[in-house]
Order: sequence, then C-alpha cells, then structure tokens
Amino acid sequence: MLNIDPELLSNASPSPYRTAFEKGYRALRFDEPIEQEFQAFYTEGHLMRVRLAAYLIIVLYAAFVIIDITTLPAEVAYWTTRIRIFFIIPPFFLMLYVSYQPALRGWVRKVVPFAAITAGVGTTAVIGAAYRLGTQIPYEGILLVALFIYLIACLQWRRALFANGVTLAAFIAMEFMYQSNPQFRLYQIIFMIAANAVGAYGGYFLEHSARTMFLVNNLLNELAELDGLTGLSNRRTLNIHLDRIWRQAIRDQQAVAIAMIDVDHFKKYNDRYGHAQGDAALRAVADVIAHHARRPLDITARYGGEEFAVVWYHPSASELARMAEILTRAIVALDMPHADNEIGKLSISVGVAMMTPSAEQSSADLLRAADGALYDAKAQGRNRVVVAVPEDHAASPRRVNAKS
Ligand code: GH3
Ligand code: MG
Ligand code: MG
Repeated sequence: MLNIDPELLSNASPSPYRTAFEKGYRALRFDEPIEQEFQAFYTEGHLMRVRLAAYLIIVLYAAFVIIDITTLPAEVAYWTTRIRIFFIIPPFFLMLYVSYQPALRGWVRKVVPFAAITAGVGTTAVIGAAYRLGTQIPYEGILLVALFIYLIACLQWRRALFANGVTLAAFIAMEFMYQSNPQFRLYQIIFMIAANAVGAYGGYFLEHSARTMFLVNNLLNELAELDGLTGLSNRRTLNIHLDRIWRQAIRDQQAVAIAMIDVDHFKKYNDRYGHAQGDAALRAVADVIAHHARRPLDITARYGGEEFAVVWYHPSASELARMAEILTRAIVALDMPHADNEIGKLSISVGVAMMTPSAEQSSADLLRAADGALYDAKAQGRNRVVVAVPEDHAASPRRVNAKS
C-alpha cells in the first residue's frame, strides 16, 4: 500500500484528512463528510478515463458485430449482433452523454455500473445464444469484460464487485443451461472465477491508492494554505482571499475591514521566556483570534512572525472598534505573564481600517491604512486599538482613537 510521508502528517493544526488517514480506510470508506468529498473527487478525476472506456467498448463491440457477420453462421450472427447493437452498446452512449453534461455529473456514478452490468450480462447472452444454436464460440471475451469492469471502467470497487457478481451469476446460469460439454463448463466457470479474483485484487488497490491520493492532495493543500505553528491561514491564503472579497465588495458596494494585530514587546518575551514559550504564546494568541471572525467570508491569518490579521466582510462600522477591543481584552485575559511589558501580561496592539472599495482602490490601500493605525497604537503606548476610518469612502483614511 502507498504510504504518506509522516512529515505531511505533522502539521500542528487539526485536519479531517489526517484523522481519516490515521483511522485507516481498508474498508474503502471514509467518515462523512469526507466520503462525499472523495466521491466527487473520484468522479471528476476519472471523467476522461470513463469516456475513453466508453469509446473503447463501442469500437470493440462494433468490430465484433462485423466479425460475427463474416464468421458465424447466419442464424447465430442474427442473435449475437442484435444483442451487441441493441443491448450492450446503447448504455455506453448514455455513459458518454452524461459524462459530457456538467449538469448530469451526479449520474455518472449510476450509469457506469448500469453499463457494466449490461456489458457483462449481454456478453454472457452472446455466448449463450451461440451455444444454444450449437456453435462453440470462444468464451474468453467474458474474462476480458470482468477485468474491464474492475480495472478500466473506473467504477468504485464495491460497485465493480456488484456488477461482476451479477455477471458471474448470469454466466454460471448460462453455462448450466446451454454448455453441453461438462468438462468445458467446469473449466470456463473456474477461469471466470479466477478472472474475478485477479480483477477484484487489482481493483481494490486501485481504489485504495485513489483514496490515499485524495488525502495527500488535501493535506498538501492545507500545508500550502495554513500556517504550521498556529493553524490559522497563512499570508498567501489571506492575500488570495482578500483579493477575492475585494472584487466582491466592489460589485456589491459593501465594506471590508482589516485588523492588523501585533504582539507587544514580543522580542523581549522571547528573550526572557525562551523561544518555545514564545511559540506557545503565539498559539494561544492565535486561538483567541480564530474565534473572532467566524462568518464564511471572514478570515483570520498569521501575517508573519508575531503579527496576525483579521479580515471582516461587510462589518458594521459601529461594531468594528468594539470587536477589536474585545480581542485585546481577551488576550490580556489569557493572563500570560510578560515582565517586560507595561502591564506585566502579554498584550496586543491592533490597527483597524475599513473601506467600501471603488474600482480604483486596491486591497493594498486598506492594508496600508491598517498598518498605519497599528503603528499609531504602538506609538500611543500599546495594548490598545486604533481605528482608521475612511472619509466618505475616500482612499485616505483618517485615524480615530478608540480608548482601550
Ligand atoms: P513591538 O511591541 O514594537 O511590536 O515589539 P516587538 O518586540 O514585538 O517587535 P519586533 O518586531 O522587534 O520583534 C518581533 C519578535 O517576534 C522577534 C522574533 O524573535 C519574534 N518572533 C517572530 N516569529 C516568531 C516565532 O515564530 N516564534 C517565536 N517564538 N518568536 C517569533
Ligand atoms: Mg512585529
Ligand atoms: Mg510586536
């Protein structure tokens, strides 16, 4: 089995994908809602292969129609070609159709097993029809169909197992009804069961690998998006998110606010208490900050070092200073000793800025305004909030002090 590099699993923040990995998925199932997410990932990721599989079957069975007509006795070919054309091939056209319709994406998962079953049962019927009319046509095609269902059709393992179970049952029934040679019957059934064992074995590991790949994909995403120490979004994620909501704010004529947060005298904190304790303090601060922007378009991020940022979409202007005040008080309430800070405890300074952006303004303007407000908060003695309020949406914000 494929294994995940333990480094990928050592990120500080909790992750549902890491939990899923640790729990294991030998039964080829994740807990919800990860399972649902995997299903979508699997369908989306295999769309191209599903289409190729459908084209392959259509071409192969069309070729067999020609071979049947040219090589089989006419009364046998009459039946085998009809089964191929009217029973086996159409579901694969349906499969192609749904795979090309984005609105029908959910149907791919239903149509593929259906097509797999009609191919299996249909091929069995082709062989049976020939036997019944006294022609021993090669039965080996059905072994390929079994392998096709397990390995090529991109069915999930359980569905492939089901489709092949139905096919195997039909095949055994057909052998007992129409195969007159008991020796042949025995061998053919044994080979069919063996083909199923081989296919099921390969198919199981294919899906297991797809699941591993899905988890790695998501763990890597988290690694790229989150800060390893605090589990908050990193600066890159903040910038991407900010650009996105900035454009939305221009369209919707809504305000965006940023709080830039900086831990007070943190260099001295590190010097006195050590770097490890410094890290623990940053995690504690991050935990508090994470609880102060919980709406879907809000984001909390570690901006770098001992600096954090909170972005609020469409905040209430009157509440803004109060939200930042609550934040500073919550940090003091952590009651973490900091002998080199004026109040003897760990504290933060916050610079807040808000804008209802126009098309000429960029999010960098807002960041700059918040940074200026933070600078003022530091200059005025730290452990406080300074709010920069734009004058009727102009680019240059005016600074207003909020007493802390
Ligand atoms: P001010 O109140 O003006 O913000 O002073 P300050 O000492 O907090 O500011 P300064 O920017 O001089 O120092 C920031 C310190 O943050 C320096 C660095 O040692 C510490 N720091 C940055 N990142 C980390 C980190 O990941 N872990 C720890 N433990 N310390 C960090
Ligand atoms: Mg700093
Ligand atoms: Mg600082």
